[in-house]
Amino acid sequence: MPNCPECAAREKKKIQSKYEAETAEEDRGRDDLFKLFDQIDLPMKLDPATKHFICKRCGLYATREQISDIRTRLNKRERTREDRQDDYLDWWQKSKKEKMEEE
Ligand SMILES: [Zn+2]
Repeated sequence: MPNCPECAAREKKKIQSKYEAETAEEDRGRDDLFKLFDQIDLPMKLDPATKHFICKRCGLYATREQISDIRTRLNKRERTREDRQDDYLDWWQKSKKEKMEEE
């Protein structure tokens, strides 16, 4: 059964803030975070009569297609935010390197 995309996204946010609260910035790794994300288990229930999946937590009622649409939309939003962080990190590392070269 697919995970509920809405609940999984909420759970991811919770896991991420917990991870960031408990892990020092220099010890953080995206792989560690993804491993935690993999443990998310929020299966939806299939209603065989309508071929719709139902989430018992949030009440989402959707076909498999709609679920993957929602997941894509939520992932895209997430990725955009991460990309921006990467850009920032690149900029930060580059400026640090430049500063060292100047000295
Ligand atoms: Zn849900």
